[in-house]
Amino acid sequence: MGDATIPLIDLRHAPLKAVVPRELRPPNGLLIDQLGRPLRDLRISVTDRCNFRCSYCMPKEVFDRQYAFLPHSSLLSFEEISRTARIFASHGVQKIRLTGGEPLLRKHLEVLVGMLAALRTPQGQALDLTLTTNASLLTRKAQALRDAGLQRITISLDALDDAIFRRMNDVDFPVADVLAGIEAAARAGLAPIKVNSVVKRGVNDHEIVPMARFFREHFGHAVVLRFIEYMDVGSTNGWAMDHVLPSSEVRRRIEDQFPLVAMRASAEGETAQRWAYADGRGEVGFISSVTQAFCHDCNRARLSTEGRLYLCLFASQGFDLRPLLREEQANDEALAAAIGLIWSKRDDRYSQLRGLNAAPPNTGTRKVEMHYIGG
Ligand code: SAM
Ligand code: SF4
Ligand code: SF4
Repeated sequence: MGDATIPLIDLRHAPLKAVVPRELRPPNGLLIDQLGRPLRDLRISVTDRCNFRCSYCMPKEVFDRQYAFLPHSSLLSFEEISRTARIFASHGVQKIRLTGGEPLLRKHLEVLVGMLAALRTPQGQALDLTLTTNASLLTRKAQALRDAGLQRITISLDALDDAIFRRMNDVDFPVADVLAGIEAAARAGLAPIKVNSVVKRGVNDHEIVPMARFFREHFGHAVVLRFIEYMDVGSTNGWAMDHVLPSSEVRRRIEDQFPLVAMRASAEGETAQRWAYADGRGEVGFISSVTQAFCHDCNRARLSTEGRLYLCLFASQGFDLRPLLREEQANDEALAAAIGLIWSKRDDRYSQLRGLNAAPPNTGTRKVEMHYIGG
């Protein structure tokens, strides 16, 4: 889309060491970080590869044929992922989101879904298990994912206009196939379906009202459309503040056509502000990551494809858990204690500091890429 992209400096080679503390305190689900935030949500990237080249995430100029994606041997196996997830659950994680890259590119993903669906919190509850996808492979996979235990799904779709969507995914992928994926997810009983749309000013902002109209009229309560502010994640997408259309403006444009009523957040740490259509035809959400930081109750950890633990979407480095999972053959107690120590020292609040016009801690350094740690 003609934006200047910035060459990638590879951060994957500079992990932080995950240290096992001398005293192995067993997890009690009460872990909090330096700002009093619990650990509730784990996002797991299952691949760094993607079949789309959304310019705001994996610009073609950088992620081209020469780009070295991770070799298969670097990826955590399904056993390693589910073991790590089980330990996170013992620390209080209640929700797991599979992401990527494009998670449906990971072969036999439904096997991993089955393993994660079998996990329980210390109180014996199943975890809230979901997945974010571009839906390109969803018509083929929705039923198998549901059968394996996936409960709900989030689908990314930035425009309904076919030409705009093809340009935004930059691989000429048609919008009709994403809509077919949404239908397949609904048929398979994955509910509620969330549809996420990243708004980039001057690129797809005129799609806001048509998208709101389409989803409320065709799907009503079955689909919740959420508009996301374009974020300065990573270092390759040439982000600038004037590309961001604030959620307040997105909401105003929708409200002009369809009156809205504020809803209460459904869960602690919820990222979206939820609004119901006043005529009862469903709801719409706004994720204002840039203009209204939600760091104060951010309870999300991110596990990269090769097992690095990131404490913030804007972090420049992650803690390498893979040696503990592999070479050192650490037992579960050691792994749990290492994760506990990392979280207890966490003080990340990048967006809040940016909002205060204070320098976020990693200003001037490179941030990790979104496709690598997942959204
Ligand atoms: N490939 C899958 C997909 O697109 O749904 C999952 C991974 S993708 C990184 C997860 C989410 O991050 C998508 O909804 C995408 O739109 C969003 N995303 C990527 N880059 C973004 C950016 N710079 N600002 C806001 N959202 C972004
Ligand atoms: Fe791929 Fe998702 Fe990134 Fe688009 S947003 S390039 S679909 S990982
Ligand atoms: Fe959480 Fe970091 Fe985003 Fe703040 S900036 S909400 S700490 S991921």
